[in-house]
Amino acid sequence: MNKEEIIDRFHSYEPNIDAILISKAYDFSEKAHSKQARASGEHYFVHCHAVSSSLVDWKMDLPTICAGLLHDVIEDTPVKEDTLRQEFGDEITKLVLGVTKLDHLQFQSRDDAQAANWRKMLLATAQDIRVIIIKLADRLHNMKTINFLDGERQKRIAEETISLYAPLAHRLGMFEIKSELEDLAFAVLEPEQYHSLNKKLELRVAEKEKTLAEFTQALEEALSSSQVQHRITARTKSLYSIYQKMLRQAKPFEEIQDALGVRIITDTVSHCYALLGIVHSRFKPLAGTFTDYISLPKINLYQSLHTTVMGPQGALIEVQIRTEEMNRTCEYGIAAHWRYKTGDGKEDIHLEEKLNWLRQWIEWLQDLKSPREFLESLATDLTLHQVFVFTPNGEVKVLPAGATPLDFAFAVHTEIGYSCIGAVVNNKMVKLDYELQSGDICQVLTRKNSNPKKDWLQIVRTARARSRIRRYLRDRGLEA
Ligand code: MN
Repeated sequence: MNKEEIIDRFHSYEPNIDAILISKAYDFSEKAHSKQARASGEHYFVHCHAVSSSLVDWKMDLPTICAGLLHDVIEDTPVKEDTLRQEFGDEITKLVLGVTKLDHLQFQSRDDAQAANWRKMLLATAQDIRVIIIKLADRLHNMKTINFLDGERQKRIAEETISLYAPLAHRLGMFEIKSELEDLAFAVLEPEQYHSLNKKLELRVAEKEKTLAEFTQALEEALSSSQVQHRITARTKSLYSIYQKMLRQAKPFEEIQDALGVRIITDTVSHCYALLGIVHSRFKPLAGTFTDYISLPKINLYQSLHTTVMGPQGALIEVQIRTEEMNRTCEYGIAAHWRYKTGDGKEDIHLEEKLNWLRQWIEWLQDLKSPREFLESLATDLTLHQVFVFTPNGEVKVLPAGATPLDFAFAVHTEIGYSCIGAVVNNKMVKLDYELQSGDICQVLTRKNSNPKKDWLQIVRTARARSRIRRYLRDRGLEA
């Protein structure tokens, strides 16, 4: 652990930026935390170092690295906001304040404090996305060192990680980080399941090594004739995602097929499709497994082609095909885009658009009054599964799984939501609590002077719809 190493790694992607401020932040934080120890007994500063080290891994900019080093200075040491501002300026201070928790003494319950802290952090994130990136680096190191805490605290932190931080990382497209957080939390929450699955997966990897090697070789032969630039990497699904699949499909590990797979990475989108054609002509694809997340990307930036094919000895192997840029986005998500935006002056025009959901969503969450409701809405809206539902004009709305025509109506327009009296899905009348499916075409029926009902709150799943209905009821004094 040393300062030079952080600076060297920073210079590897930002060779022309003076790193003197990183050096200053490093020394300042080390001194400020010098009297403090971690639960592990180590110097507290080890944690600040680890956080900034992750941020350098993710190739973040200079103010973010500095803020990562300083992120606990206000919360945990006598250093005051003014001092930080004098020494490091507004930008870094704002980032540090964004990740600083509120004083817990002002809250009646832990729920209240947790909700208020999330609200505060999301507001800061809406203004500056780097806040959540620092927070994720912070949580990642806290999860890695969680064994030093007592059992009850471990559980509480792991629960918050799996229900809020990991889904948020997923939404921001930070898949590597999301999987890492989930697996760390899974080990705390379900230790027996975790260890038994871990063993089974290791066995399967060993067992399938030969099959996978044969498959990769045959694949390489087929692809090399195409003259298209590419590289093949092996991939293993994370333990927690395998576990989720087992629960969802009510199947034992032995019947989960796609725990292993390969990834083909190439240069352009058209080459992705060209390579897909070669894969399908060489290996028989399994019907119903092909998904095109390139032309229909997920809301969280994820892009890739997925297909499952029959390999040697009938083994089923999932193949993912994507470009280098998509691959980088898949690992670092929003962090990769952030860098892309500031790094070489090229604006990513889609970034703002991609972040709009976050801003809107924070706005809707503002209307929720009780802390419990706030946290529940947050967790529900972060739900990993989404459905794509179309308007009769072919416009797509992305909603959480379980969303109803009422959610859809509010997603189209608040007034449409307010005056909704029913819905027609795929040319059939449905009830307002109908669960929308991907590909549904939904037409909302409205009537002038029709008003929102209180029991709609039981039907809607999205924060947007819920906050709009609440606001309507509250404005008219109808809320209980
Ligand atoms: Mn921290």
